[in-house]
Amino acid sequence: MAAPAAGVPFLDLRAITAEHAAELQAALARVLASGHFILGPELERFERAWAARVDARHCVGVGSGLDALVLALWAAGIGPGDEVVVPAHTFVATWLAVTRCGATPVGADADPTTGLVDPDAVAAAITPRTRALLPVHLYGQTADLTRLQALADRHGLVLIDDAAQAHGAEHRGRPVGGLADATAWSFYPGKNLGALGDGGAVTTDDDALAGRLRMLRNYGSREKYVHELAGTNSRLDELQAAALTVKLGHLETANARRATVAARYRARLGDLPLAQTTWGTHVHHLFVVRHPARDALQAHLAGRGIQTLVHYPIPPHRQAAYAGAGGGPRFPVADALAREVLSLPIGPHLTAADADRVCDAVEAFLG
Ligand SMILES: *Cc1c(COP(=O)(O)O)cnc(C)c1O
Repeated sequence: MAAPAAGVPFLDLRAITAEHAAELQAALARVLASGHFILGPELERFERAWAARVDARHCVGVGSGLDALVLALWAAGIGPGDEVVVPAHTFVATWLAVTRCGATPVGADADPTTGLVDPDAVAAAITPRTRALLPVHLYGQTADLTRLQALADRHGLVLIDDAAQAHGAEHRGRPVGGLADATAWSFYPGKNLGALGDGGAVTTDDDALAGRLRMLRNYGSREKYVHELAGTNSRLDELQAAALTVKLGHLETANARRATVAARYRARLGDLPLAQTTWGTHVHHLFVVRHPARDALQAHLAGRGIQTLVHYPIPPHRQAAYAGAGGGPRFPVADALAREVLSLPIGPHLTAADADRVCDAVEAFLG
């Protein structure tokens, strides 16, 4: 007898948390008993573990992914009058970080096959005011760091990468996190490595940059009540750090389960999915397909209980926040992706049967 057709949630955070509930509760209880909540041993332990995992000399835990980007730019000396080249096709936080430093985000269009920033477009966006390149490892696969680092070297620019969607991803066999001047991470609950609230980190091999980051996140201070920099308050707290240490222990398994679902999608959906690069691994934070009738496909799937999302429906340059930043046809690929991309359900909770249900529904739509 056939089971009733079940829906497929986009991402089941309750299931992920429930799977690790005992470990998480023990970690949180340890912090509660310690009475130490900010800048303590749990943060140091997680910072050491994450730095080791991504092969970087330093990890500095901060309050969110956005703050990780802001503080990395700030620590690198980016400020008013500077331009930072960012992808036109990304989550708006990448642009907002530049704006919050007082610098100007300058968009570069995407490669239509992968959705990643196009290095030729980055090269074309560089001006005498450009100080930094800020690529994004979008959807879980790495941007072309080889070409972007060459551009940064040629023009004397800082290279900071936004790895909010790429926990565990590799670029030419090396983990993202110690490859650029600084790497910004988000531990927002829905990311591949997610906390139980907001959290972020910057990893870097640069001792001086790490020292500035440690001060900037803590009122510009390294010694209590002595303030060398006009910093801020953005710290990864002990409860989140303890939870992240637990979740980090399961990152490989969670990414492997995502890969299984992604392989199933790829085997069945032909050329609908965005392409994979030749230079990096994909950790499938999102599984994105492209179709000219995206809205109809999304409605069709919703009618069968399959929850999908769009990453992202309005590119930053078309947001009111960036009115005048180029609403014209400057980024035709980003504009087309915003109309045509659709993110299918993916996560460690999904089963092969769930993936097949999604594929059956997509195939029914394609006819
Ligand atoms: C999630 C995300 C961010 C922001 O992270 P928060 O922790 O939510 O501040 C930045 N960039 C990208 C690409 C993201 O996906």
